[in-house]
Amino acid sequence: MDFKLLASDQQEMVQHAFEWGCSSVERRARLFEKNEHYCQMYMSLSEQSSFGNPRPVHPSELLKHLKSTNNPLYLTALKMADIRVIVGQLYSFMHWKDRRVVLETVERHLIPSILEMVDEPICKQIISHLSSKARAKHLKALSDVQLAEWEKAPEKIGGLWVATDDFVSELGDPAQKCEGCSKRYEEGEKLSFTYCTKHTFHLRTSCQSKECSCVNRRPLFRPLFGPR
Ligand SMILES: [Zn+2]
Ligand SMILES: [Zn+2]
Repeated sequence: MDFKLLASDQQEMVQHAFEWGCSSVERRARLFEKNEHYCQMYMSLSEQSSFGNPRPVHPSELLKHLKSTNNPLYLTALKMADIRVIVGQLYSFMHWKDRRVVLETVERHLIPSILEMVDEPICKQIISHLSSKARAKHLKALSDVQLAEWEKAPEKIGGLWVATDDFVSELGDPAQKCEGCSKRYEEGEKLSFTYCTKHTFHLRTSCQSKECSCVNRRPLFRPLFGPR
């Protein structure tokens, strides 16, 4: 379509998109800051390949540039970010105070999916800091999602599950505790099924190094190093 045929507001938008596509991360951060009106468009353009740039600037790079959870612009960008970017941001911060700001900024309904995506230490950390009301709500939502998935594919070979009391209590009796250490699962711990589809294991090396009792097979997540 001919640029001149576009309405003036659309022309302005195209110019912004072009400018964004041709800019460095630093310049994008300034554009983002100055043109609040176009923030949403900028974030969606970040995900797509950009004009002339060999590699598009990913939203996580923009967030890295904006750096601080004290920066209102960072929080604006975070609200618009994809869940994978949000998880990446949680990993990029060492301190709970920053991770807490990230979690308080993003949409509430993402929390159960975030718990599924992060690894066990961060998952447990998040759960331990939730208020009892939020904890009950998010773990219930996560349990429901996992139960629906589990009913479709009980063994979910190769997959990980997040232990929640509601979810674990629905598993068959032998799967409710780890075959490696015989302990019941704490909420937030990650577990995986073995090939037999009846037994489960913690992810830690000491548990993964044990055999599954029924068919004498090892767990799926057998560590490459450590005791065998
Ligand atoms: Zn174990
Ligand atoms: Zn087994």
